[in-house]
Amino acid sequence: MAGTLFIVSTPIGNLADFTERAREVLAQVDVVAAEDTRTTGRLLDSAGVRARLLSYHDHNEESRTVQLLERLLDGDNVALVSDAGTPLISDPGYRLVKACHEAQVPVVPVPGASALLAALVVAGLPTDRFLFAGFLPAKGKAREQALEQLAAEPVTTVVYESPRRLVSLVEGLCQQCGGERQVVLCRELTKRFETVISGSLADLAARLATDSDQLRGEMVLVLSPAPAARTADADLVPLARLLLAELPVSRAARVLAQWTGRPRAEMYRMLEAL
Ligand code: SAM
Repeated sequence: MAGTLFIVSTPIGNLADFTERAREVLAQVDVVAAEDTRTTGRLLDSAGVRARLLSYHDHNEESRTVQLLERLLDGDNVALVSDAGTPLISDPGYRLVKACHEAQVPVVPVPGASALLAALVVAGLPTDRFLFAGFLPAKGKAREQALEQLAAEPVTTVVYESPRRLVSLVEGLCQQCGGERQVVLCRELTKRFETVISGSLADLAARLATDSDQLRGEMVLVLSPAPAARTADADLVPLARLLLAELPVSRAARVLAQWTGRPRAEMYRMLEAL
């Protein structure tokens, strides 16, 4: 009989969020596949759990998947954990879960903390539909395109970001969405300096410029949905032409983006076409 793969969530900061069931499973399985064995080792020590750890990270995911699948098919039970939160959410594990499905090895979730849902539920933005965008590309054209796409999303969007790039993210979103779009910065969730800042993109940019504490720690940005277009394209053409007569395309695009609530890049393309 094949063993079972358990996908086990661990705390994202507050150790009291380590669930009873997670501890039991980690103590009972034959091996715990961990993103960083030292980080997980410290967590398990603090919880008094003894387990056999094996590394499973971005750089050995392919070879380890084969090894772990063999063990599972031999009947071993395996738990997968990441450094913090829920595995597979901007963390490794997808390959292993897919391989288990293909080999008909059971996969069982042991749910718990995730920065994604923790941020979403305190953001005060619509939760009926949402998009998880993970980490955006770090720079260049790919980042610009990602920002442009985010700006046009008609649903609440959750983004993970590193403190080093937070200012650039907020500035980029200001350009694409206009400064009025609502956003929520969720920082250090479940930890001592937990902070949730809700307001417009322009307000957040101003706060970041004067309060460098907001650039520290772990953070999630939750962006409100793009407003439904106030005006159809055809209706915009007369205004677009007037603006083009008075302003360079980029400034006309900014005005139109603010007026319609639509991405600046989209307005720019429409103006160029005119
Ligand atoms: N798998 C994890 C999860 O379930 O949330 C996420 C792993 S991802 C590599 C790490 C990112 O998650 C951080 O850079 C940050 O964006 C977010 N994050 C993790 N812990 C957080 C916390 N306590 N508060 C805010 N964001 C956090």
